[in-house]
Amino acid sequence: MARRKLVYEGKAKILYEGPEPGTLVQYFKDDATAFNAEKKDVIDGKGVLNNRLSEFFMTGLQRIGVPTHFIKRLNMREQLIRQVEIIPLEVIVRNFAAGTMAKRLGLEEGTPLPRPIVEFSYKDDSLGDPLVPEEYIIAFGWATQQDMDDIVALALRVNDFMAGVMHGVGIKLVDFKIEIGRIWDNDFMRLIVADEISPDSCRLWDIETDRKLDKDVFRRDLGDLADAYTEVARRLGVLPKNTTPGPKPTLIN
Ligand code: 5GP
Repeated sequence: MARRKLVYEGKAKILYEGPEPGTLVQYFKDDATAFNAEKKDVIDGKGVLNNRLSEFFMTGLQRIGVPTHFIKRLNMREQLIRQVEIIPLEVIVRNFAAGTMAKRLGLEEGTPLPRPIVEFSYKDDSLGDPLVPEEYIIAFGWATQQDMDDIVALALRVNDFMAGVMHGVGIKLVDFKIEIGRIWDNDFMRLIVADEISPDSCRLWDIETDRKLDKDVFRRDLGDLADAYTEVARRLGVLPKNTTPGPKPTLIN
């Protein structure tokens, strides 16, 4: 395989230079991490499943007019994406109390929220991705008020789409995280959904049993993570037929 230039390596993905300017190749690793990488493991097949699932959600969003970075899937583990300037925020949408919200407010996990709630964390592992109010985001210049209005509108459209798709296959969308990137067409800036959408970044519970089908299975030692992600892919009809593991990360120069 040809050597490719590494652009960025994160905990679960690697970005390589793409074939055209303004494109990148996004490689999905099998690595699972939690609690700011204090807990780590390699889950065979996770990268293959997340590549497929992210493709499924991003193409579905594009069909309803929500712009995303996704261009096409290249193979079992890689997809071609548009290069964006990532806004340093985790945009979290919650439909039911869980995780840090449940802890912070003393709510029982699974409590329905009066309406979807959008919140923001500042993306900085060394600080543990702290929750930040919009006031900080605008004051520190990470995004403008107009950007924030657009980001909230985008996040709620993603929520409507994802909650509907999941409901159709008997899964409750408890919450999820997305990242937003900027792209420029000449002087015109647009905000698009970037990074990935997969069970790594969502809480997905079976509607009947509340069985967890997301990364909490790994975070909380609830069983086999690959089984949970395979179940999500199976219900959505995106289970890869060929389960060979796909390419290894290429050498870096
Ligand atoms: P919480 O704030 O309750 O830990 O997370 C809320 C939602 O955002 C969950 O679906 C969780 O998976 C997702 N999330 C929050 N932080 C991260 C992160 O750093 N990485 C990923 N992949 N997902 C995150």
